[in-house]
Amino acid sequence: MDESLRDSNSRLGETRPRDPRTAIYPYNNRMAAPLPQRERTPVELLATPAAYVRNVGQQRAELLARLGIHTARDLLFCFPRDYQDLSDLRTINELNADKVQTVRGRVEEIDGYTTREGRSMVGVLIQNQGEHLRAMWFGQPFMRDKFKVGQQVQFSATPRLRGGRWEMAHPRVTWLDDDEKEPETKLLAVYSLTEGLSQYHMRRMVAAAVADFGHVPEEVFSESLLREFHLLPLAEALPAIHTPRDAEQLAQAQRRFVFQELFVLQLAISARRFQQQVGFRAPELSATAQVDARIKRLFPFELTTDQLKAIDEVAADMALDRPMNRLLQGDVGSGKTAVALYAMLLCVAHGYQAALMAPTEILARQHARTLQSLLEASRVRHRLLVGGLPEAERNQTLAGLATGTVDLVIGTHAIVQDAVEFAKLGVVVIDEQHKFGVRQRAALRRGDTAPHYLVMTATPIPRTVSMTLFGDLDVSVLREMPPGRQPVQTYLVEPDQRGRWWDFVRNKLREGRQAFVVVPLVEESEHVTAVSVSQAYERLTNGVLSEFRVGLVHGRMTPAEKEQAMAEFRDQKTQVLVSTTVIEVGVDVPNASVMVIASPERFGLAQLHQIRGRVGRGAHPGFCGVMLTIDMAEPVRERLTAFARTTDGFELAELDFQMRGPGDLFGTQQHGLPPLRIADLQRDREVLEEARAEAQRLYALDPGLKQPENARLRRQMITRYGAALDLSDVG
Ligand code: ADP
Ligand code: MG
Repeated sequence: MDESLRDSNSRLGETRPRDPRTAIYPYNNRMAAPLPQRERTPVELLATPAAYVRNVGQQRAELLARLGIHTARDLLFCFPRDYQDLSDLRTINELNADKVQTVRGRVEEIDGYTTREGRSMVGVLIQNQGEHLRAMWFGQPFMRDKFKVGQQVQFSATPRLRGGRWEMAHPRVTWLDDDEKEPETKLLAVYSLTEGLSQYHMRRMVAAAVADFGHVPEEVFSESLLREFHLLPLAEALPAIHTPRDAEQLAQAQRRFVFQELFVLQLAISARRFQQQVGFRAPELSATAQVDARIKRLFPFELTTDQLKAIDEVAADMALDRPMNRLLQGDVGSGKTAVALYAMLLCVAHGYQAALMAPTEILARQHARTLQSLLEASRVRHRLLVGGLPEAERNQTLAGLATGTVDLVIGTHAIVQDAVEFAKLGVVVIDEQHKFGVRQRAALRRGDTAPHYLVMTATPIPRTVSMTLFGDLDVSVLREMPPGRQPVQTYLVEPDQRGRWWDFVRNKLREGRQAFVVVPLVEESEHVTAVSVSQAYERLTNGVLSEFRVGLVHGRMTPAEKEQAMAEFRDQKTQVLVSTTVIEVGVDVPNASVMVIASPERFGLAQLHQIRGRVGRGAHPGFCGVMLTIDMAEPVRERLTAFARTTDGFELAELDFQMRGPGDLFGTQQHGLPPLRIADLQRDREVLEEARAEAQRLYALDPGLKQPENARLRRQMITRYGAALDLSDVG
């Protein structure tokens, strides 16, 4: 026992009370729990180590710890991951052979043998009201050790009648408590487990926690809020989520916890916004008419209405003395760079420094070139800061940034990580990177001053996600494409159409266009059938593309090699670029009009969309060929068909989100937020809207949640999101 948990004046030997309010850890009979001097507060009670919760004990507590369950509170709030429907539970003489059914019984006999062919067989005979059923497992000898004679179990499978006796092959097994009665609920909770822990034990431990501690947590919501949003009070919802009476009650309990989880998250986001607004000062960089005109004159094209609107929003933010935190969302090719350049030049016009960070060196160099041509006639001093620069050049740039003789720096995200010193940093633009976390931003602050931030992403973010993961950012959207763009036509190329497709590609190349061939990453695994990029390069240059100049770029090349391959393609020294997804984001070669995607099944929809966005950027219509193979699974074909049907990035992002969940692209962990425990952004979007509106309203009424009636909400918010969102100094 942890000494710090022990009450120093324990009076051992007295009768231990059963009331958790007056006991410390009264439930473990193997341990002599000391008596308290005073009543425990709810917080202390809920912090009771799991080991002291009835039915747990030291050994299981260690298993629970692996699941992140350390206290009575953790047990109470470890929500089931699923529910087993027992509405098909029946007695053995009620069975029939046509569908999956569930029976319960006591184990009477266990036998096991190995057949002459060497296969093992385990049989378990159970009895219920004088009737028998035999369950069988083939090739799973370990099943034998999972049963004990006399034990109560439950089997689910489609039964069959053999020689007058019911049998089940490989049923789903639930081990029941010895004295477990017929369940009162038809919905049995199923928890996430770890090796060594059974559902049976898990249910018993949770049930004990609910019985002994379930009344302790206090309601965080006011009466009126519960009523207004039709939320089940905690005291009802807690038992109901673990042992629901029926589907109706379960739905209510789930709704309550989903609402609570999203509400607390939205409160945290409100708190973060509030903190950013009042907590840090940023330089006021207003756009006078003259400065505005001077910057806009630099662009060799008319800005689109959406670009102008985004620029206005950015300029309005930067004119204030608090940091801008804006997300600029725009499909590939929508012209986000122009907005970024505006922000940076506005900053430089005020004598502050600007930084642009790209996810790859290729993109950083591309931005540097764009800037170079825009700024040829101006006095803005700009530098490129990427890995692999000559030492002297790098040091010169760093010194220039520290002393303020460099106005504008373009580089990879490493700029932040390396803790570069800026003399007067005014704005930071982060390109194609929505995972730029709270911590990286903190690295750029000096005392209570912070630069303005503009984060850009071409990944269309579903609304539910932008309201949560990016809820602390204001959003500008470029929906409209610059004029003259024609949507890319996408073809699903069946294996027997390949010849015709390559004829088409060759014709385009002869017309003077260029083409990309994208091949998924090389992986050293025999299970991955995807063609490796070098193989593809060999095959193409010796085959269908033998008469053309073909370049190659992949992730294993050095940055200099990559840059050279890109430059040759840009300068049309090569006509085709075979590449891995290095080119996925941001690369801009307007003369390239054809995209070929090999092994498309290896990419998600959003990623495919990004890849396709590399073509159709100039005046020439774009074409995208998706190479199908005979053995493609149906869901893959469906995904690719959806991809061919629409070029709307937002629609594809929603589809991707529905098909794969938010995990891949918008992983909460990547963003640094703890994962949601019960809410599902896709399923619970309506609850999210409600919770968000109410959280914003409440936070506006009580910024910092300082009112006593909001103390519990505040505590939850800080406990859960304080570290991730840097909320320590709220209120
Ligand atoms: P993305 O949003 O994908 O980063 P870019 O900023 O790279 O897009 O712009 C894509 C291409 O469109 C570039 O070649 C850029 O010069 C061009 N472009 C941007 N805005 C306009 C505009 N308003 N009119 C014409 N071309 C534009
Ligand atoms: Mg871009």
